Amino acid sequence: MEKNSKILQLGGNGLLGSAVNRILIGKGYKKILAPRSSEVDLLYKQEVENYLEKEKPEYIFMTAGLVGGILGNKKRPADFLYQNSMMILNVLEGVKNKCPKSKILYVGSTCIYPKENPQPINEERFQAGKLEETNKGYAVAKGMGIVACQLYRKQYNLDTICAMPTNMYGLKDTYDLENGHMIPGLIKKFLLAKEKGKKVVLWGTGKPRREALYSEDCADALVYLMNNYSSDKIVNIGTGFDYSIKEFAKIIQKELGLENKLEWDAFKPDGTFEKRTDISRLKSIYPEFNPQVFRDGLRELLSKEKFKFL
Ligand code: GDP
Repeated sequence: MEKNSKILQLGGNGLLGSAVNRILIGKGYKKILAPRSSEVDLLYKQEVENYLEKEKPEYIFMTAGLVGGILGNKKRPADFLYQNSMMILNVLEGVKNKCPKSKILYVGSTCIYPKENPQPINEERFQAGKLEETNKGYAVAKGMGIVACQLYRKQYNLDTICAMPTNMYGLKDTYDLENGHMIPGLIKKFLLAKEKGKKVVLWGTGKPRREALYSEDCADALVYLMNNYSSDKIVNIGTGFDYSIKEFAKIIQKELGLENKLEWDAFKPDGTFEKRTDISRLKSIYPEFNPQVFRDGLRELLSKEKFKFL
């Protein structure tokens, strides 16, 4: 990308999209478009085509999607399937018809991988086994999106690339206790308990393991890939290091200086037991990639985020 290239961010205002936006601005890119869904609704093909015809972007970061945590996914599997499928198909068709020279970076997720995997999970595990039930709708749609990118690359020569980020946290996350992800959920529960000084109820057994990738680190890798990578092979973006949910709870509590009693609600799902990523492919493309450890990223987040719910 040149500093004057026209860059389109779809989903540019969310957790990952806003981080990509900050990285692009920080690196001096000048022509960045980040339309809201009120300006271009990705669920409507004609709107997408009209927008792409008008703007003709040279690079597209496709970070848009319907996202949510374990319960949100479990409750609305059809919505996750439909919306995430339509969005990427409309973008690919729009690019094919209106600006076929654009390079597209599509963002998947490590929850697309099968429920059970040898650890760490390498990219060959894509479509290699049965999916986790709690996020099947999302995983099928996102997996289809990846295959779609590969097929549009093959048939229409579109320059599509696909990245698979692991569980993320960072600025502009969704602090929704019912439908959000684990890290913002834990942060919110502890911050609210701080006000009231009571016990904190977390979900499942606390034994499953997750990685935690700071959104700025993921965004940095995405911008690097856009500049330095072109292949139909997907690329994991993770830290290569995981913690149990119990360990996350302890770290967050410690950083907030709290000692609330914890309770585990075993009626809530545990989901996939472990999903640590193998990041050797990313490291071979971007040897300097060096994501922050959770404690450091969390410290930065706690110092910058306003936590509007407080
Ligand atoms: P996943 O990584 O796709 O499964 O989604 P999440 O980010 O929602 O992480 C879910 C894991 O964290 C499960 O093992 C949950 O049981 C556990 N967990 C514990 N407390 C919470 C909570 O308050 N919110 C969420 N979303 N997950 C929690």
